[in-house]
Amino acid sequence: MTRAAILEQVGSLTIGEVELADPGPHEVLIDTKACGLCHSDLHFIDGAYPHPLPAIPGHEAAGVVKAVGSEVKTVKPGDHVVSCLSAFCGHCEFCVTGRMALCMGADTRREQTAKPRIMRADGSAPVAQMLNLSAFAEQMLIHEHACVAIDKDMPLDRAAVIGCAVTTGAGAIFNACSVVPGEAVAIVGCGGVGLAAVNAARIAGAGKVIAIDPLPEKRALAETLGATHTVDAMADDAVEQVMKITGGGVHHAIEAVGRQASADLCVKILRRGGTATILGMMPLDCKVGLGAMDLLSGKTLQGAIMGMNHFPVDLPRLVDFYMRGLLDLDTIIAERIPLEEINDGFEKLRGGHSARSVVVFD
Ligand SMILES: [Zn+2]
Ligand SMILES: [Zn+2]
Repeated sequence: MTRAAILEQVGSLTIGEVELADPGPHEVLIDTKACGLCHSDLHFIDGAYPHPLPAIPGHEAAGVVKAVGSEVKTVKPGDHVVSCLSAFCGHCEFCVTGRMALCMGADTRREQTAKPRIMRADGSAPVAQMLNLSAFAEQMLIHEHACVAIDKDMPLDRAAVIGCAVTTGAGAIFNACSVVPGEAVAIVGCGGVGLAAVNAARIAGAGKVIAIDPLPEKRALAETLGATHTVDAMADDAVEQVMKITGGGVHHAIEAVGRQASADLCVKILRRGGTATILGMMPLDCKVGLGAMDLLSGKTLQGAIMGMNHFPVDLPRLVDFYMRGLLDLDTIIAERIPLEEINDGFEKLRGGHSARSVVVFD
């Protein structure tokens, strides 16, 4: 029996118990040690993005491998692992061209006709696995291509946030934007993803790192993590401030909120030839665009789902950055909470005040 936070209906989570199946040939059973609360979970909890229910959210986790299926070669019992929702098949067009974050991961899930990975505690009905993981649970049963082993010296609560926020924010800088030392980078939104992007921009050697957020406490956190300048996102002259700091706009603008206004702001603060990268999950009817003059100025607009990660390579490198004191995960994590306080944690996230809350399992 596994204790979990279950989304029974839109609005809030219920603590209950579920039953996990035995690992299939390519599956891994993991004792979850920590799972971060991500804004993307909220889109499903609040019903902005539809999902079959009941389901267990949570997709930013770290834990210890308990058991593996007969064909699993990549991890073994006792390994410390970080999970990633970008489960990849390894043989589709996207995987073989190095863009595995775009893989639909079809054969990383069980067949519709097979026994589900997660069932009600009494075995009466399936519980949907969310984003290949369902990590707000004491244990996860996932495909081997949805986790990677890491250095055992890495604290697992800090490892957890690498699984989504840091992979996405740092991936935008390293993978999607390929920031060149000296370039000017602006990050709009300083939650977990945005703060990770700020920190990664410093690691990449960006010349100017401009953190844009309406909340003073988040701008202060961004400064701790490497922002060279901060701008109040609500200021009437926010665009002018960025233009003045950079002498004509940034090379890279990164949207880490998921709002129309912040995506539009990213396009406005680009210099000629600059690129806007949208990371946030926007409401499904949103559209971001480039005007005629933007196109004539050689501006580019791109999405970068999950930081266009190649997580089996990226995650151990990010762990190494933390161990060497380059990646500041201690500042990104605001609090550690037990599973029972998960709804309070999400309420804080709705308010936008907290950097990252992490559920820890003992
Ligand atoms: Zn996430
Ligand atoms: Zn694939």
